[in-house]
Amino acid sequence: MADTGAKVSARIIDGKAVGAALRKGLKARVAALAEAGAAPGLAVILVGDDAASGVYVRNKIHACESVGIRSVTHRLPASTTTAELVALIQRLNADRGVHGVLVQLPLPKHIDMRLVLEAIDADKDVDGFHLYNVGGLVLGDTAYPPCTPFGVVKLLEHEGIKIEGQNVVVVGASNIVGKPMALMLMARDATVAICHAKTRDLAQFTILADILVVAAGRPNLILPQMVKTGAVVIDVGINRLPDGRLVGDVDFEGVSQKASYITPVPGGVGPMTVTMLLENTVTSAERALRNDNKAPKLAT
Ligand code: NAD
Repeated sequence: MADTGAKVSARIIDGKAVGAALRKGLKARVAALAEAGAAPGLAVILVGDDAASGVYVRNKIHACESVGIRSVTHRLPASTTTAELVALIQRLNADRGVHGVLVQLPLPKHIDMRLVLEAIDADKDVDGFHLYNVGGLVLGDTAYPPCTPFGVVKLLEHEGIKIEGQNVVVVGASNIVGKPMALMLMARDATVAICHAKTRDLAQFTILADILVVAAGRPNLILPQMVKTGAVVIDVGINRLPDGRLVGDVDFEGVSQKASYITPVPGGVGPMTVTMLLENTVTSAERALRNDNKAPKLAT
């Protein structure tokens, strides 16, 4: 990286390194499952030929291999109907070798996404998007927290950053990042405000944050004057600039001179998201094994 001469005072949180450390632990859990005769399996469904989705799916498959999770990708044409997709999900729900069923989003517009996500067995919903698991999140108790906010919580925990009693501002209120993020931090006793595209004067909220989580998909949305000195800044955004560079939502150069901790893009939250998918899949395999062991043995 070129030396810009900028003074960096924030500790840069290395999501790649934290993810790698967590994957070591997952490998050990996969080995323990193997000793008990179980092998975690993830089914990934990719509908259509969206290039970015293809890249995400490839990353997930490689990540599975890195910890010993078996993965199978089902590639379906863009013309697939909701009924066909649901039928595939039902087959995978019934397959005892599959512990996680993941439908790569976004789906083609003609497919009813809600119906598709509800078709996934809640016990195999490793993305955490099924209503049952969303409800669990509201109650502060779910087996499968959504991967991106789960990754953010793990990063904060790994760095020893206190959450309880802190003022947290989440910028972005989507169902897959902002809302579950706010719920997960609330469950850890933070005081949480959620901002979104209709928030008036974003800065009056962000300046109060001890922990600022930004997931809006807008490059340079968060400037140094919007951040409290010493704040922890987590940048979830991923934006491709016209010159090809990948950046987050935060002015990294400026804000890193004010924050106490900051995540880079790339290399911050992104690697954690994939790691949490692996975590949820291993958890699912462990739960399945426990349930098998609890089931009454049939007389032979
Ligand atoms: P989304 O488009 O579904 O939601 C964006 C949210 O940001 C909305 O609630 C919107 O109201 C809000 N927003 C938009 N402009 C705003 C503004 N000017 N001020 C305040 N709020 C604003 O997006 P998403 O799926 O939640 O993703 C958000 C970003 O995070 C994207 O850049 C996406 O690529 C990235 N992302 C990263 C990961 C990862 O693993 N790092 C995972 C998922 C999403």
